[in-house]
This record gives sequence, structure tokens and C-alpha cells, in this order.
Amino acid sequence: MSEDHANCLFCRIARGQIPSRMVYEDEDLVVFHDIHPAAPIHLLIVPRRHFSSLIDAGPDDLALLGKMLLLAPRLALEQGATDGFRVVVNNGAGGGQEVFHSHFHVLGGPRPWRSMSPGR
Ligand code: AMP
Ligand code: ZN
Repeated sequence: MSEDHANCLFCRIARGQIPSRMVYEDEDLVVFHDIHPAAPIHLLIVPRRHFSSLIDAGPDDLALLGKMLLLAPRLALEQGATDGFRVVVNNGAGGGQEVFHSHFHVLGGPRPWRSMSPGR
């Protein structure tokens, strides 16, 4: 872990230095409930390795990104999203990203959902 990321919110959550409602963790990923949910089920799938967004991902991240995508349906179902779910990935300020440690949002459950659009 680079010192550069000592104050990164999601690095700190992944290291257990900031509390979260964790639902899954392994050597590569942590998954926890979003603190400000936009839907009844709102998880964040977060790699332990710090990279800012998909803009900074490369071929070395292929397996990790595939793992994140395959985990989404499993955890969505476990959390009760029995009729489908949505994966949202905001990339860069223009993409509505607010926490600059790459993550996938997993949203599900009964409507209404809050808007996920930038500047909400
Ligand atoms: P994004 O806009 O894609 O960068 O999403 C960042 C998300 O992180 C937002 O949905 C926030 O509600 C969520 N968030 C911010 N701080 C925390 C925290 N301490 N624990 C869990 N989720 C958080
Ligand atoms: Zn980080």
C-alpha cells in the first residue's frame, strides 16, 4: 500500500480503519453497504488495490474486474434483489464520481430509487 493512499476513504474502509456495514470480503475485494443508499439495496464492490477509476485500469486488472462483475449478481441476490439489479460505475468527475478509488455500485429492491445522476 502506497503512502499516497493513506487518507483514501475506501482504502481505509478496506483496511478496517473506518467502520462499514461489510457484506463480503476476500483477498482482492471488499463489499459494503453504501452509507447514503439510492435504492433499498445499495452495495459498493471495492477492490483492495487502489486505482482511481476504470480510466486507470489496464490489462492486469482483467481478472479483478471480471471477479467484481461476477460477484454482483451473487451478492444482489443474497441481499434480496430477487427480480434483478443494476450495476453503475462512475468514472472521473465528469462521470459523477465522488470517491476516487474505483468501485461498482450494485442497486436493487423495490422502486422508487433515488437518482444516481451527477450533482444529486
Ligand atoms: P461515486 O459517486 O461513484 O464516487 O460513489 C461514492 C459513493 O460512496 C456514494 O454513493 C456515497 O454515498 C458512498 N460513500 C461515501 N462515504 C461512504 C462511507 N463512509 N461508507 C459507505 N459509503 C460511502
Ligand atoms: Zn484507495
